[in-house]
Amino acid sequence: MKDISCKLLVIGAGPGGYVCAIRAGQLGVDTVIVEAEKPGGTCLNVGCIPSKALIHAAEEFEKVSHMAGAKSPLGISVEAPKLDLAKTIAWKNGIVGRLNSGVTGLLKKAKVKIVHGRAKFRDGKTVEVETETGTQIIRAETVVIATGSAPVELPFLPFGGPVISSTDALALTKLPERLVVVGGGYIGLELGIAFAKLGSKVTVVEAEARILPQYDSELTRPVSKRLGELGVTVLTGAKAKGLSSKGDALVIETSGSEEQKLSADKILVTVGRKPVMEGWGLEEIDLDRAGKFLRIDDQCRTSMRGVYAIGDVTGEPMLAHRAMAQGEMVAEIVAGNKRSWDKRCIPAVCFTDPEIVTAGLSPEEARAQGREIKIGQFPFAANGRAMTMLGEEGFVRVVARADNHLVLGIQAVGHGVSELSTAFGLAIEMGARLEDIAGTIHAHPTQGEGFQEAALKALGHALHI
Ligand code: FAD
Ligand code: NAD
Repeated sequence: MKDISCKLLVIGAGPGGYVCAIRAGQLGVDTVIVEAEKPGGTCLNVGCIPSKALIHAAEEFEKVSHMAGAKSPLGISVEAPKLDLAKTIAWKNGIVGRLNSGVTGLLKKAKVKIVHGRAKFRDGKTVEVETETGTQIIRAETVVIATGSAPVELPFLPFGGPVISSTDALALTKLPERLVVVGGGYIGLELGIAFAKLGSKVTVVEAEARILPQYDSELTRPVSKRLGELGVTVLTGAKAKGLSSKGDALVIETSGSEEQKLSADKILVTVGRKPVMEGWGLEEIDLDRAGKFLRIDDQCRTSMRGVYAIGDVTGEPMLAHRAMAQGEMVAEIVAGNKRSWDKRCIPAVCFTDPEIVTAGLSPEEARAQGREIKIGQFPFAANGRAMTMLGEEGFVRVVARADNHLVLGIQAVGHGVSELSTAFGLAIEMGARLEDIAGTIHAHPTQGEGFQEAALKALGHALHI
């Protein structure tokens, strides 16, 4: 097979890698991307997109189930719905397939060469790829490592049999009657809630004292309340210990060090993700690490000249939009443009019910930085649009500097608030002050008005509360 020489080689076509390659191609950089599996990476194939499809299907199912038996205050009555999970999964697979082709098409349009296979460094400028037709050698001036992350496996609860990862959970065609979820973080709760809505009896086992420990308790309270309404059992301060001898239950230890057995058809382990540091020849190039991740600087440069790293392999937050922003920046740098990481915030959305959005600093984080702050919080219970959608649970909260009112952080919890993340991110990125948000006309009736009202509240003159 003839060797390939190029200016830029990207390893991994997840959101980080494929965005980097597309942008580089657009900028006229001669680019090759190598992907061992399918374009789109974790996010498109077994992460963001399939999970949101399942969550949407579950929401629809639960909505109709709720209406059945004349329980709907909207005056709608329907028959109890039936679920064909195999069809739901086929629909989800269809979306993933369309997006796979979409990413391939975008790469081709940008004149990026795609090589299918597993890449491995020989040295800092040479990579070999095991393809279906043999070994392909690729030499590149610059290499970007975008190998992503994989689920953490608990040594005493390895994946297999009833013990499943998020990838397996997103491919189930039969609903587990009893689902135990180990880890009450992002994935555990997003998927746990979806399965509860579809009809599984769900138990969440979380080692910390509360679910979603990365968020403050005010933000997670509405989620805890909803979990109760959905009949999900949440055991906090509880650690998984292993599978029962018969393999039909999870053994856990609670804070009082009592052992308990939780019967389960499936045990979904979602205790975090780890960077993919193996299989691509790290030992050949010996890059510096930052903990378990690759160490990078503010231009995503690793410790070896001409080798960059982006996305989940470089650390927290392990989010698709961070990977994409890094990918875009690195492409610009490789094309000769002057860029460095100057983002003010990376918004995060947890697609639980209700949804949680955070951008910038929480009140606690701002205070920990020694800031004097003003906080404005506006409840959706006082928002007309929220009422018309039965979405009165939750609030928007704005955190600003007390002296000049510069917005430092914005958080929200509520029905459909994921779409507000755009406004929150933009406000912080543009250096908005409370007066800018309060002075912007927000269309009525929208949940976004809650954002304006939260800013007004921080200024001491909210109108609708
Ligand atoms: P990845 O997407 O992991 O892609 C890495 C790619 O590199 C893979 O395709 C892999 O096959 C390839 N690769 C690895 N090694 C090699 C090699 N040696 N040769 C060739 N190819 C290789 N994030 C969000 O922002 N929003 C969400 O809603 C969200 N939901 C999620 C839900 C779930 C269930 C999961 C698991 C994750 C979710 N995430 C979400 C996280 C998101 O998927 C990741 O942050 C994102 O995919 C990281 O992108 P990446 O490009 O760094 O790596
Ligand atoms: P996570 O870090 O969000 O949650 C893991 C949870 O497991 C934590 O609450 C932790 O305390 C708990 N835990 C750890 N060990 C345990 C044990 N032995 N027993 C019981 N509980 C235990 O991790 P995740 O849910 O696996 O998600 C991984 C990453 O994927 C996230 O950090 C995020 O970056 C990304 N993700 C993002 C989204 C989104 O943006 N909406 C959705 C899903 C995943």
